[in-house]
Amino acid sequence: MSSAPAVSRLLMGNWKMNGSLTENKQLIEQIVQALKEQPTKHQIVFCAPFVYLPQLQSLLAHSPIQWGAQNASAYKQGAYTGEVSAAMLSDFGCQWVIVGHSERRTLFHESSQETASKVEQVVACGMRPVLCIGETQAQYDAGQTKQVLKKQLAPVLALGAKALKGLVVAYEPVWAIGSGRSATPEYAQQIHQFIHAQLQQAGCQQVPLLYGGSVNGDNATALFAQPNVHGALIGGASLKANEFLRIVAA
Ligand code: PEP
Repeated sequence: MSSAPAVSRLLMGNWKMNGSLTENKQLIEQIVQALKEQPTKHQIVFCAPFVYLPQLQSLLAHSPIQWGAQNASAYKQGAYTGEVSAAMLSDFGCQWVIVGHSERRTLFHESSQETASKVEQVVACGMRPVLCIGETQAQYDAGQTKQVLKKQLAPVLALGAKALKGLVVAYEPVWAIGSGRSATPEYAQQIHQFIHAQLQQAGCQQVPLLYGGSVNGDNATALFAQPNVHGALIGGASLKANEFLRIVAA
């Protein structure tokens, strides 16, 4: 058995609206088997569409790999047809929930205020929210990145550090998501340092900061070498066992 890497990172796969019972089973079994043969110190989490969560729960029952959801309702319960509450997710053992992914913000017009309500629900139900923030290409070009991130963070940080237990923040520049054009490690570090300072100012200590946006087996090592990059949120590459395993090995 070869030795596992010394520094533990949080590696979260975001399957988005992909997968099937057959594909999920193949993917998870391949990854579980590979990690049995070559264990890792990284914490791995897969976030699947709601309907596949029971399948993930069952496939990962005897594995250190954890699973999570990609969204949760901003409301506690009631007449919200089509919504899934945080309480429902925690009811059957969910531990992680992605909140405020840029696809939710842009395609489903989710506001930062709504995102904050979701974070509040997730934490209140004992799960860990993975809050996604990031600037668009136009905002990047206009030099507005820090301003945008501050605005996205503001309603969440206004909840107060006590209401943010277990918070994880994922910096995902929108221009890097699914584009094959990852941020450079230096740029990711610079922005993570800025986010870290914002969190510190709000009294939120030791919040893991993930980088997301075209992470793959080729760029993961350099990204993870940055002191403020504590892991990654991984979209496309989390659907391919071999590519995902290359990131785990980074
Ligand atoms: C994501 O969807 O959160 C993401 C980072 O996607 P990708 O890795 O495909 O860029």
